Amino acid sequence: MSEKPSPGALFDLTGRVALITGSSRGIGRTLAEALAEAGAIVVLNGLNEDRLEQTRSALAHRFGDDRIFARPFDVTDEIAVSSAIDWIENEVGPLRILVNNAGVQHRVPLLELAPEDWERVLKTDLTSAFLVGRAAATRMIPRGRGKIINIASVQASLARPGIAAYTAAKGGLRNLTMAMTAEWAASGLQINAVAPGYIHTEMTQSLVDDETFNSWIMGRTPANRWGTTLDLAGPVVWLASDGSDYVNGQTIFIDGGMTVVV
Ligand code: NDP
Repeated sequence: MSEKPSPGALFDLTGRVALITGSSRGIGRTLAEALAEAGAIVVLNGLNEDRLEQTRSALAHRFGDDRIFARPFDVTDEIAVSSAIDWIENEVGPLRILVNNAGVQHRVPLLELAPEDWERVLKTDLTSAFLVGRAAATRMIPRGRGKIINIASVQASLARPGIAAYTAAKGGLRNLTMAMTAEWAASGLQINAVAPGYIHTEMTQSLVDDETFNSWIMGRTPANRWGTTLDLAGPVVWLASDGSDYVNGQTIFIDGGMTVVV
């Protein structure tokens, strides 16, 4: 049996390098802060360079410039992904934790869904996890350890009108989590997914503002509230830590109970 830390140290991420894609705002930003609070050295990512720098600077103010880094790149661009992972390994340190969080939504009835929008959502919400996950795993596998956390959605198992591409992508992400586990778990990697319910962020602001939708969500969620980005922090820190070393290929629903009721 391998040496294990004491129970109190199970969630300590001190010195471990973590990349969180799409962490300039929203859920990703909160996850980056939570991982940094647990001791990780964090690499932030996003597309908009000004927003990314603002977030880097705010987090560096709290945790120090030597703990917070930023790398703008498009998670759908294979070459940009590969050079970002090289940069992290050379300039920051060995990548230990990857959170595939970057994602987009596109709300339109399926009959009106343009193929280019279908492709854009599939690329950003699913193909990106394959590209970044593969580049990260290539480095993690020879070292025999690493954590990959894919941010899925309740739409990984529930459909709703108007978000077909997103639903297909998140369902695919759940299965990709299992496929990564099938191939990489024996090399000491743990790959799991977190499936958030309805979380109040910029992506969902229009739904929060829609009175009918808002009251439907409240009625449909046993916890009777929207989730907050902080509701996802505990599960992600756990999945990033030694505390989850025998958790493999799972999709964990953080949804106030939405997926257990009709
Ligand atoms: P936001 O729209 O608030 O933030 C999206 C983030 O992803 C931003 O940092 C954005 O960067 C980045 N991003 C988008 N496209 C790319 C790209 N091609 N390359 C790099 N970065 C990119 O989203 P949320 O925080 O709401 O969602 C985060 C994740 O959580 C998504 O995967 C989403 O599907 C999932 N989720 C969200 C739920 C919710 O209720 N909000 C519920 C369930 C799942 P930039 O700022 O530069 O545009």
